[in-house]
Amino acid sequence: MLGNMMSQPLLISSLLQHAERHHGDQEIVSRRVEGDTHRYTFREMAARARRLANALRTLDIGPGGIAATLAWNGYRHLELYYAVSGAGVVLHTLNPRLHADQLAWIADHARDEVLFFDMSFLPLVEALAPRLASIKAFVALADRDHMPASSSIPGLLCYEDLLAAEDDRYEWPVFDENTASSLCYTSGTTGNPKGVLYSHRSTILHAYAAALPDAHNLGARDVVLPVVPLFHVNAWGLPYTSLLSGAKLVLPGAALDGKSLYELFEEEGVTFTCGVPTVWQGLLDHMKAQGLRFSYLQRVGIGGSACPPAMLAAFEDEHEVDVLHGWGMTETSPFCAGSVLKAAHAGLEHDAALTVKAKQGRVVFGVDIRTTDDEGRELAWDGRTPGHLMVRGPWVLERYFRADVSPLQDGWFPTGDIATIDVDGYIRITDRSKDVIKSGGEWIGSIDLENVAMGHPAVAMAACIAVPHPKWDERPLLVVQRKEGTDVSRDELIDFYAGKVTRWWTPDDVVFVDAMPIGNTGKMLKSELRERFRDHQLPTA
Ligand code: AMP
Repeated sequence: MLGNMMSQPLLISSLLQHAERHHGDQEIVSRRVEGDTHRYTFREMAARARRLANALRTLDIGPGGIAATLAWNGYRHLELYYAVSGAGVVLHTLNPRLHADQLAWIADHARDEVLFFDMSFLPLVEALAPRLASIKAFVALADRDHMPASSSIPGLLCYEDLLAAEDDRYEWPVFDENTASSLCYTSGTTGNPKGVLYSHRSTILHAYAAALPDAHNLGARDVVLPVVPLFHVNAWGLPYTSLLSGAKLVLPGAALDGKSLYELFEEEGVTFTCGVPTVWQGLLDHMKAQGLRFSYLQRVGIGGSACPPAMLAAFEDEHEVDVLHGWGMTETSPFCAGSVLKAAHAGLEHDAALTVKAKQGRVVFGVDIRTTDDEGRELAWDGRTPGHLMVRGPWVLERYFRADVSPLQDGWFPTGDIATIDVDGYIRITDRSKDVIKSGGEWIGSIDLENVAMGHPAVAMAACIAVPHPKWDERPLLVVQRKEGTDVSRDELIDFYAGKVTRWWTPDDVVFVDAMPIGNTGKMLKSELRERFRDHQLPTA
């Protein structure tokens, strides 16, 4: 027997309609690449998104088509999020930090039909345009005054002209909720990038879950600043959850340094923000150097790579900002788990509570997890035994875009992460499987070793990598970027591990680098370090 309730499809356009009707006066503030600040309301945004949907029709981009963007976090990019997906077209966010060859490959693989780009990417798009065979229209996200006097891009269109020529009446089409809504390629440090094609259904369900109190905990009183880019995993869903909950949105544009972010937090009264640890390090360093405090910030979401305990303590203890350490990946939309304490943790001492919060957290409803050994046998949730982390759920990838084979194993997506799960269901990521250090047949968790080093006051960044060893196969080498104006020796760092990890986990050696290699999503490129220090002679070898 079927239930008697309405079966309305879960569509992204409904978020926009809800936001316009119920939070029409709520603000969206954007720092523009043009250098100024732009503000308008959800109501005005919705009207412009309808004009844009009409413009797509004029450009002959219809349902099933793909519209690409190359843009920072700004209101025009947000309009594209809603107009493109709302019209039944797929929004393909390209990561401008990728190499031009990779961008050309991705745009070709996706068969993008139109490219909307920020003016700061004009030289990049001009260089790429001759290689983008599937793209029939290029649109600069600018008004007439900011268009270039001349450009090599054939028939370059002006975004504001396109909108001005259209009506702001448009009926959002109703279609199957499983229709594709957006597309993001994984960063792909090895091999070609792989496309993750989200659906309206997966996006809405993910937004409901990500907004929950034990997740991003969003409400209409919040002011949300996504530092995470709209070009990577839909900015962790914040463009959707903000409209779902009626929260004010603050979009920082291209200025992601500590000073610019701090100013924006204070000017706009930001209460919640999300980003990767490398961004927060810049912010914390700036605030420390200038003796600054937050007036409004209540919560910070940290993920993408492990939040070092020292960073967790800096936010929680020095700044009284609640840290949500989250775990997810492009293939999981991304939000799966967050490290919010349970009632049972209420009596914990401060340090013990921080130890729980330093884990990657427990999953929200909708996501199912388990860990397995190399033979695929499920492992115990004892908080000790590391295994391959597997996930499943309605916002987890089943198959990569245009791929014939599914990566699933027995219906589970293999994340490529190594993790333990404790009795309370808290995940602790100990490594990427390709980053594990295997010493004498046993795994050493490089993240734990990095976290210890990050607790040293002279360490700005730390990476632990495997180096070949004649007796143990592999041993850990610590690579360190020192904080400016500080000094710390190899021996001091090695001694710093005493009592903090099992003795045989202590790195065999330390090397110092001027700058850590950082990838296009803000993570350390350990593959590059492994290559660079492949022949490093360990003193123990
Ligand atoms: P991406 O698809 O680029 O977002 O990368 C996803 C990967 O980032 C995950 O599989 C993890 O290896 C890593 N990651 C994400 N969040 C965390 C976290 N909180 N701690 C450690 N690693 C993380």
